[in-house]
Amino acid sequence: MIVMKFGGSSVADAARLRHVTEIIKTQLSKKPVIVLSAMGDTTDHLLEAGDLALKDGKVQIKHIEKLHQETIKNLKLPAQKEIGTLMEELTRLLSGIALIRELTPRTKDFLVSFGERVSVRIAAAYMKSINMNARVFDAWEAGFISNSNYTRAELLKESWEMIPEKILPQIKGNVIPVVTGFLAKDEKGNITTLGRGGSDLTATMIAASCRSEEVQFWKDVDGIMTADPRIIKDTKPVQNITYDEAAELAYFGAQILHPRAMQPCIKTGTPVQIKNSYNIDAPGTRTSQTSSAQKKSPPVRAITSKQNITIVDIVSTRMLGQYGFLAEVFSVFARHSISVDMVATSEVSVSLTLDAAYDLTEIKKELSKIAGVEVRTGNSIISIVGNVKRSSEILARAFRICQLIGVPVQMVSQGASKVNVSFIISDSEAAEVVRALHMDFFSPQEKNGDKH
Ligand code: ASP
Ligand code: MG
Repeated sequence: MIVMKFGGSSVADAARLRHVTEIIKTQLSKKPVIVLSAMGDTTDHLLEAGDLALKDGKVQIKHIEKLHQETIKNLKLPAQKEIGTLMEELTRLLSGIALIRELTPRTKDFLVSFGERVSVRIAAAYMKSINMNARVFDAWEAGFISNSNYTRAELLKESWEMIPEKILPQIKGNVIPVVTGFLAKDEKGNITTLGRGGSDLTATMIAASCRSEEVQFWKDVDGIMTADPRIIKDTKPVQNITYDEAAELAYFGAQILHPRAMQPCIKTGTPVQIKNSYNIDAPGTRTSQTSSAQKKSPPVRAITSKQNITIVDIVSTRMLGQYGFLAEVFSVFARHSISVDMVATSEVSVSLTLDAAYDLTEIKKELSKIAGVEVRTGNSIISIVGNVKRSSEILARAFRICQLIGVPVQMVSQGASKVNVSFIISDSEAAEVVRALHMDFFSPQEKNGDKH
């Protein structure tokens, strides 16, 4: 058995859905389970419709309805009663929001769930119309049970048993389950979502819990790239990568997979394959447990950059030989629900980085009571993910390049056994540094192994 996941852009319209079905057909002997996102930008459109109902009291689903009805028509399917019923339900929900002018996180999850519930029904109807044995599963019928942390719910461990109980008999019966990504239900029976991009996690969870052969992510890129294609023109896909490396990349800017999506597969060692639905023959990227430290491979897998990073510098002589100071600092961030990305400490100071989106006014006030605080905005994290055994070489080459082009490095972090070297430079210098690093680490000589 395998799991095949298709994201919003892969199922954006009738033509894309036909194409996806062709891809699925090539894998029938492997017994696929299909996981789908909402069509195109439907999730965003549903959230916008919710906002409009909340703020202006208006109910507007015309464009959402149009996309789905046109797709049904273009796939030459008869009118789908179930889709009609769901659209009516959606209209009633939005009328309710417009009336009471309230949109709680729980209602928001119910609202966005319509996207995936509709997309799987259209896809399965089409597959059936061409004699494929497809069957729709709302995630909760496929064993997905979560906590009640609406808009970013976490799956309960019961799911590990319930999913195979529901899915495996279908596979035995030669059914192709078509499962809604992104969704679950909590123990009270309310619909929840796993966070934006959460369909990735749906797919890896099914694959891992059912001990499937592999999970395939069909995207619109050739795989995980050696650098951001918007910065580097001749970037290449990385063919093999470890889970750790992929997770680091997902976290630091390469938005290929949902950051938590890798977790179930790491547990079971299920390989993750990223493929391009626009370029089926490209090998894609394979993620598995085997180390990247093959002798001949280049030291670096990929280079990412994440812009708009804020550095917080906290300096206190109280830190000298003390205990509990770092705990105190981090508890301030925890209390304000702020996620810290990178950390570097010296004897009397700690520097950390955050996303610029946070408002730091309160934090600054609180930290100022225990230390000197300085906030610097407009920075980028450059992360080099590669072979940990060659970290000295990676550091030497990277900093030499920064020196050559005259870019001051403001902060550095490398974990003890980690595959990631990260450093901070200013936003305005990020593209140039990524280009120079890419040229150095991915030059043709490097690939032939005759450099150094
Ligand atoms: N449709 C949801 C989103 O756009 C979930 C997903 O696509 O993974 O975030
Ligand atoms: Mg999406």
